[in-house]
Amino acid sequence: MDAMEKLVSVAKRRGFIFPSSEIYGGLNGCWDYGPLGVELKRNVKEAWWQDMIGHHDDTIRTGDAPAPFSMVGLDSSILMNPRVWEASGHVGGFADPMVDCRETRNRYRADQLVVFGVVSADAGDSSVDSAELLFASPGEIGATPEAALVAPHRKRLAKIAKALGEHRIVPVPDALLDETLRAKTLAPGATEAGTLTAPRAFNLMFKTHVGALEDNSSVAYLRPETAQGIFVNFKNVCDTSRVKIPFGIGQVGKAFRNEINPRNFTFRSREFEQMEIEFFCRAEEAEAWYRYWRDRRYQWYVDLGLDTAKLRLREHDADELAHYAAACADVEYEFPFGVSELEGIANRTDFDLRQHTEHSGKDLRYFDDQEPDKDKRRYLPHVIEPSAGADRATLAFLCAAYSEDEVGGEARTVLKLHPRLAPIKAAVFPLVKKDGMPERALALYRELRAGLTTFYDEKGAIGRRYRRHDEAGTPFCVTIDGDTMREETVTVRERDTCEQVRVPMSGVLDHITERMKD
Ligand code: ATP
Repeated sequence: MDAMEKLVSVAKRRGFIFPSSEIYGGLNGCWDYGPLGVELKRNVKEAWWQDMIGHHDDTIRTGDAPAPFSMVGLDSSILMNPRVWEASGHVGGFADPMVDCRETRNRYRADQLVVFGVVSADAGDSSVDSAELLFASPGEIGATPEAALVAPHRKRLAKIAKALGEHRIVPVPDALLDETLRAKTLAPGATEAGTLTAPRAFNLMFKTHVGALEDNSSVAYLRPETAQGIFVNFKNVCDTSRVKIPFGIGQVGKAFRNEINPRNFTFRSREFEQMEIEFFCRAEEAEAWYRYWRDRRYQWYVDLGLDTAKLRLREHDADELAHYAAACADVEYEFPFGVSELEGIANRTDFDLRQHTEHSGKDLRYFDDQEPDKDKRRYLPHVIEPSAGADRATLAFLCAAYSEDEVGGEARTVLKLHPRLAPIKAAVFPLVKKDGMPERALALYRELRAGLTTFYDEKGAIGRRYRRHDEAGTPFCVTIDGDTMREETVTVRERDTCEQVRVPMSGVLDHITERMKD
């Protein structure tokens, strides 16, 4: 089993993530979070909310922020007036170019189908032009490991490799746009070359109808991002919450995209959750705030346990930027299936508020009563947008946490989740089901539950109970044993080191709370 298969298997076995409507064969691109998964994902969203909004101090300059600022939250509806999506450009432009395979009937996003050829090791890249056959594999150029690209074509490639001896794989950018190259490209799972169509636009928004009539006048869309709900409420928030620029509005909620090729477990789903901030500031300060949010959002993942060796902050080149964006960076993580985006941080200038001003006919300019120059008091603020995915973040934390080691000569699977994210913080066990131990354990369990998500378990040998909780990512296991009955102490075992310490029964909550801060 490769690393991803192992993770999917433990996620299913332990009730983290299930395929949606599984008893009916599932629905591609949709996932359900089970009892442990829902706690984990809630903790991810809660950590984001508390760190970005709930615990934010408006009154002082925190960290590297260029100035003090305010943060408020919002929960806007999923269905909105469809004109929102005309203004945002989603109705006209939220279309990815797609290619279809006429033979296998599979559909792919054109930018996620890598076309490559094989050349001998000492030949130049351009010798790929004369290759008889090219291969297409799902992946993102530069992000997908070579083995994954090769996998769908293993047999055919083995023959070519044998004939060439030492060889290299050379990507052929834009091959799908060229009819001649497409004609000699073998699609994944296809038996003959030339079955891929030219790329064509496909709208990713799910359409529905509001009300009883199913005609053009009742069309609505499931939001493909939470951001627009923030922009259309900009004036409401300014008018009611007395926030002053610079300030941010954050929102967590579902978004829907009819992704052509949902894959890599929950990474690319059709229904997912976003955690987005629109941060409003003066145009001349936008660059400094952009840098602040970019670096702060990167650090958030580090603080919650992602290894910096697998995490990168990739600044987009000028030719990669959307036409309205002044700057953009992606926080990327090295998943087992390749390096992929966790979050994008963009300087969107005043594009969105300007679009909504034009389309709605409402004046969305901010009134700055602190500005001494009267002519400069009304303006459209610029926007920095850190846009994260709750499911992608959850998946990255799971991938980073998964590990296998050996304890006492026995193999174990352990999820080394940050204690803030762990679904269960403490498990309480009586060593044996007699001598008054279950009663003492239950009393402690009830005490801990008031402050921590706690689990009581008396089934099976103590070693097996530890393993079960290692696999669930529980950072602390507390055992009531013979000494508890004599001396009022318990053992607290730490998940990653398996180290056990004796702690007075009355101090367990404080002990765990303290160690969770480490
Ligand atoms: P991609 O290029 O991977 O499709 P994107 O650049 O279109 O992503 P954005 O529109 O910037 O994504 O969305 C912001 C964030 O929302 C992403 O960084 C990601 O975490 C999350 N997200 C977007 N699409 C999906 C999806 N299909 N499934 C899960 N999360 C998603």
